Amino acid sequence: MRVRVLGAYGGSSPWHRQTSFLLDGTVALDAGALTQSLSLEEQARVRSIVVTHSHLDHIASLPFLVENVFARSSGPIEVVAPKDVVSLLKDHLFNDAIWPDFTRIPNHLLPAVTFRVIEAGVPFRVDGLQALAVPVSHVVPTFGYLLWDDQACVVFSGDTGPTEALWTEARRRADLKAIFVECSFPDAMAEIAGISKHLTPATLREEMRKLPASVPVNLYHMKPPTLPQLRADVAALSDPRLRILDDGDELEF
Ligand SMILES: [Zn+2]
Ligand SMILES: [Zn+2]
Repeated sequence: MRVRVLGAYGGSSPWHRQTSFLLDGTVALDAGALTQSLSLEEQARVRSIVVTHSHLDHIASLPFLVENVFARSSGPIEVVAPKDVVSLLKDHLFNDAIWPDFTRIPNHLLPAVTFRVIEAGVPFRVDGLQALAVPVSHVVPTFGYLLWDDQACVVFSGDTGPTEALWTEARRRADLKAIFVECSFPDAMAEIAGISKHLTPATLREEMRKLPASVPVNLYHMKPPTLPQLRADVAALSDPRLRILDDGDELEF
């Protein structure tokens, strides 16, 4: 499985793209910056977008991607998420006020986008991969995902504070090759992290105790204005499993 880090951050600047990953060239996980990081040809190859939650830093490029691949010959692009997330995207984004309802454009028989509702805890297929959604602990309905093929399984935390069920699932996987965990704020901003249900390096250290001991942990969703302090706090953990991701990183499992 190839994982391209298209957007590693929980905020936006010309040097920091918002959360988005591309798996095997065809499956996106979150859509914070798909159109800023993929060529039009690469965008046209995306078949499915798996969404962790409705916050804007995870879906901001979704309207523009759908518009760019509109009317392609290979059929609609598929947005995949549990019901609570899909409902929020339909009600608040593709609502004919913020952006057109592309499930009815050009017409409902041949739409540009379809929404596929999946059930948390029930494995599903997405393009060539298998996946499982697990609820995590954030301020809106949010899901982490395990994704796997014949060789490897990876897990993405989504936005979350301290959580349990996702790590229970991760510990069950003998084929787990990488863990992608959010780490949004430095320790000095622990109160904001607690209220907004995000991790800091200190709370990440506690989460690490719940993770399989030998699996690499890749950090993402750092808030760009806090990066110097965040990097210092992560370095102080001196845990060789930890790696801070950046836009453009590529990993293979
Ligand atoms: Zn976020
Ligand atoms: Zn969020």
